[in-house]
Amino acid sequence: MKSSQPYSIHVIGDKILRTPAAPIVEITDEIRNMAQRMIATMFAFNGIGLAAPQVGISLRLVTLGVPARGNGNTPGEAALLAQMPLVLINPRIISHCEETAMHEEGCLSVPNIYGHVERPSVVLLEALKLDGSRLVMECGGLTACCIQHEIDHLNGVLFVKKVIPDEQYEIRRKADKLEQRYSAMNNHIRINP
Ligand code: ZN
Repeated sequence: MKSSQPYSIHVIGDKILRTPAAPIVEITDEIRNMAQRMIATMFAFNGIGLAAPQVGISLRLVTLGVPARGNGNTPGEAALLAQMPLVLINPRIISHCEETAMHEEGCLSVPNIYGHVERPSVVLLEALKLDGSRLVMECGGLTACCIQHEIDHLNGVLFVKKVIPDEQYEIRRKADKLEQRYSAMNNHIRINP
C-alpha cells in the first residue's frame, strides 16, 4: 500500500479503541510505512494527533501534527513544534507537574463532539523517534494536552471519559447517540477518494 494512502478511522463503539495497545519491539519498514500513512490520514482528516488504534492497529505509535503558533508555552514544546509532524513510538509520561490546564478537546474517533478536559499542564515525555533515537523532553501547552490525549488512546481510553464533571452527562448522551449511529457503519469512517 502506498505510504500516502490514508487509513479509515475507527470510531467510538469499536472495541479496538477500548483495548490497550502493544509496545513496538522493532522499528521495521512496515512500521515506517504505517507511520507515513498515519501522518497522511491525520492531515486528510484535519487532525492534530492520531494514535494507531484509531486506524485499527493495536500498537503504541502516535503521530502529532500540532500547528506551530508562536514559540510554544515551554522550551520543550517549542522544540517539538519545530519537528512536526512528529512520530512517537512507545511514548510515555515519565512525570508531570501538579498544575493543570484545561483545553477543549475533540477526537477523530468521536466526530463532532467536544468537551473540556483538565490535564497536567507540563509533562516529561519519553518516546522513540522513527529513526530509533530516544526522545526525552518536557512539554507544555497544546502539545502536552495532545500527547496525553494520544497516550490515553494507547491505553484504550477516550477523552469523553475524562471531561470535566459539569459536562459529563451531556457528553455521555451525545457519545451514546454517536455510537448507535456509527454501529450501522461498522464503526469506520473513510475519506471519499
Ligand atoms: Zn483522539
